[in-house]
Amino acid sequence: MGGTDSLRVHYGLLLGLNKSWEVTNVVLNQDAGSVTITVEFADLSGVCALCGAKCELLDRLHEQRWRHADTMKFETILVARIPRVNCMKCGVKVVDVSWNDTHARFTPIQ
Ligand SMILES: [Zn+2]
Repeated sequence: MGGTDSLRVHYGLLLGLNKSWEVTNVVLNQDAGSVTITVEFADLSGVCALCGAKCELLDRLHEQRWRHADTMKFETILVARIPRVNCMKCGVKVVDVSWNDTHARFTPIQ
């Protein structure tokens, strides 16, 4: 049965991810009171964060972590590798990531 699948969909919605992102792993740590959600960019193209053009994907940056600002029962950590595009206009740029803008409730973790 798709128990794990529905859990992934649940967290994808919870995080407000667009459909380019797939939740690939959810690790619940009862002792630490945290849930770590790993997401992966599943599209072959992405939107340039600078000019908004849709461009072909170039590569992915190293793994980064963000903490969700919501006070949920568990501390929520998001793990992802931000993809980069080779924009015709702007050159190599990261894609526009929903949780990384000023309105998002995610804070990067060093
Ligand atoms: Zn651009």
